[in-house]
Amino acid sequence: MDDDAHLAEEARRLFSGRVEFLLSAPQLRFLPGPDHPEVAFCGRSNVGKSSLINALTGRKAIARASVTPGRTQELNFFEIGEPTLFRLVDMPGYGFAKAPLKVAERWRDLVRTYLRGRAVLKRTLLLVDSRRGLKDSDLEMMTLLDQAAVGYRVVLTKSDKVSATELAAILDQTGTLARRHPAAHPQIITTSAAKGMGIDELRAAVLADVHA
Ligand code: GDP
Repeated sequence: MDDDAHLAEEARRLFSGRVEFLLSAPQLRFLPGPDHPEVAFCGRSNVGKSSLINALTGRKAIARASVTPGRTQELNFFEIGEPTLFRLVDMPGYGFAKAPLKVAERWRDLVRTYLRGRAVLKRTLLLVDSRRGLKDSDLEMMTLLDQAAVGYRVVLTKSDKVSATELAAILDQTGTLARRHPAAHPQIITTSAAKGMGIDELRAAVLADVHA
């Protein structure tokens, strides 16, 4: 087997093994100790983050959908591997139009402080809806990540909802914008949690980041 095949195989074994909810941190003083590498998932509310985390881990409902926009303001930590190899961090969704200013401020404080202080954070995955492309709130998130010097990778979600032509256009547009950001990975991964597309590739990419 070549290196890629080894990585894919290890990733498949890892994600079908122990995946355990650790804790939910509404404030930074509740964060777990920086004991393991972390890979964080972020994106606008409704981008399909819970569905993607559930697809990655092969669980039906390990990550809960953000039922009320702006209500899920916590960082959720999951441990992967036996013994724990890394932690998957589900970051609070953003970009909800009707959120009160105070909620948006609290989100910004929580996220900025987490990103700045977290030496174990290996990479953040920035999820973007294939139908919508990068929005202002995504660009704000990218700037926060650039400023914190946290490497990130754009992951397109719900790719089953668009045609191949539309997908190619959004990939092109997203790639052009991402290349302007110093901390962005040049490779964009296209996924569909509903159809299982890109899931193996994303698992392998996460594992490569953990090993990096
Ligand atoms: P979250 O708020 O980012 O956690 O988003 P959810 O995972 O709750 O998904 C939001 C909505 O998009 C739900 O109605 C999902 O069923 C739908 N959705 C999520 N992923 C996909 C996908 O890959 N394909 C399609 N067609 N719908 C999806």
